[in-house]
Amino acid sequence: MISRTFLILISLLFLSKMGISQSSAKPKLIIGIVVDQMRFDYLYKYWDRYCDDGFRKLVNEGYQCKNLQYNYVPTYTGPGHTSIYTGTTPERHGIVSNDWFEIKSQESVYCSEDKTAYTVGSETAGVGRMSPINMLSTTIGDELRVATNLRSRVFGVALKDRASILPAGHIANAAYWFDSKTGNWVSSSYYMNKLPDWLTKYNQSQPAMKYLKGNWETLYDINSYASSKPDSNAYERLFKGKTSATFPYNLSELMPLNDGQGLIRSTPFGNTITRELAEELIKQERLGKGNFSDMLCISFSSTDYVGHHFGTDAIETEDTYLRLDADLAKLLKFLNEWVGDENLLVFLTADHGGATVPSYLMDLKVPGGYMNYSIVTEKAEAWIKEYCGLDSVLLKLTNDQIYLDEKSVIKAGKNPKELQQLLADSLLLLDGIHYTSTATKMTNEEYTRGTKMLMQKGFYAKRSGQVLISMEPNWIEYAKTGTTHGSAYSYDTRVPMLWYGWKINHGSTADSYFIDDIAPTLSWLLNIPFPNACSGNPIRIPLKNYE
Ligand code: ZN
Ligand code: ZN
Repeated sequence: MISRTFLILISLLFLSKMGISQSSAKPKLIIGIVVDQMRFDYLYKYWDRYCDDGFRKLVNEGYQCKNLQYNYVPTYTGPGHTSIYTGTTPERHGIVSNDWFEIKSQESVYCSEDKTAYTVGSETAGVGRMSPINMLSTTIGDELRVATNLRSRVFGVALKDRASILPAGHIANAAYWFDSKTGNWVSSSYYMNKLPDWLTKYNQSQPAMKYLKGNWETLYDINSYASSKPDSNAYERLFKGKTSATFPYNLSELMPLNDGQGLIRSTPFGNTITRELAEELIKQERLGKGNFSDMLCISFSSTDYVGHHFGTDAIETEDTYLRLDADLAKLLKFLNEWVGDENLLVFLTADHGGATVPSYLMDLKVPGGYMNYSIVTEKAEAWIKEYCGLDSVLLKLTNDQIYLDEKSVIKAGKNPKELQQLLADSLLLLDGIHYTSTATKMTNEEYTRGTKMLMQKGFYAKRSGQVLISMEPNWIEYAKTGTTHGSAYSYDTRVPMLWYGWKINHGSTADSYFIDDIAPTLSWLLNIPFPNACSGNPIRIPLKNYE
């Protein structure tokens, strides 16, 4: 005879199976960290200078992919963040650059712009005209939301709108970014009609001014910055109103001429206020305290502004990484106290690398140079005129791509495909141009290696140009001070890739992985679908007690 107790036990077991909590085998909180413009080698260039609890903790206790690269061009912020979280490349997610030219409307389009949205959290009109509508595919956060019937919560935080909005995805609970005019953290009507009360109150404390009232001095004795060039050198761009790029920087004095509170972007404190907001958001939204995995996408943007400003070998850049390391240590400590490392899954990577300042390498006799877009435009227009007699066929040269008014070429009785190829061949005559291709080739051929493949994975016909250019190594289109990124070379494509917490075993691999492998790895760890346009594959991370 079946005992009454046994029946109760069976029904309890049955009820618990129907309960609304997810399997305990999932992390409670997933933290994605993107460090803008962080090259792989920055992990080791400053290794001895980092503390034990920041980058070194992630490397020493987590799992590292030492050869993860971007597999498309151009390597910019908008496409970078999108590719990390969608598990695919611009070819499929459609974010081909930060800005692109739209032939149909004859207008430039910004990657996270949305003309139907308005700012929430300040009176600054343009800053909140943003949403992820231009991104064609789902992110890992979108898949997590759908897989849990919207019970997982997903947020984005970054100084840059695109670095917050695109990672968080279409179904995000909210994305927040920085309004440099007011110093407020803001959002857009895509997510909400007013900021949550906690954030309105938080903004009243003027989070950026706390740092802008002080000086930016080096964290350690300035003479200890042995990995960097001297404090004043020829490869750094100056702040307006300053005659040399030297410490200390009196920030309140520099503010009026350097974008007001926007100045904080180009200092390490832009990362600090991002970390502070992330922690406040986690506490206020109680992320990781529910029954379903929550996710926060954090992007540290100041590393990019500082890199563009001072280049790869400046004390300012080193100091920014040392201070980011200290912020990372604080964040990891906070997260461990909040949910415990066993419930926490962290990954850290970058949206692209950056070129060692070309003028510096050229002084060291390395070949390189500076591309002048007006010369390229002038030459291209002359070749076009010769071919079809028309003056205004070249609509735009941007992102190393030429956009052509092909309708006018057809009207003139000429063949636009022939013109594409003619330009692609002629451009090779110019110094610094290494390789060219055309929209026709991108559409009709299938490339499996080299620059051609990178171009193809970055190409989406409705938004990309008709003639594509790749420069020679150590060539950039930029000022001679500071640096930039965007190329197909490893200084731009190779980034850190660290996994930490939850069931992640310690270790590292030199196997080759690509940026679109990160999101499917998360899908694999969480047992949820890949993002809908995913083209990557899970990274084989060794796991503890994982079924
Ligand atoms: Zn970037
Ligand atoms: Zn940048």
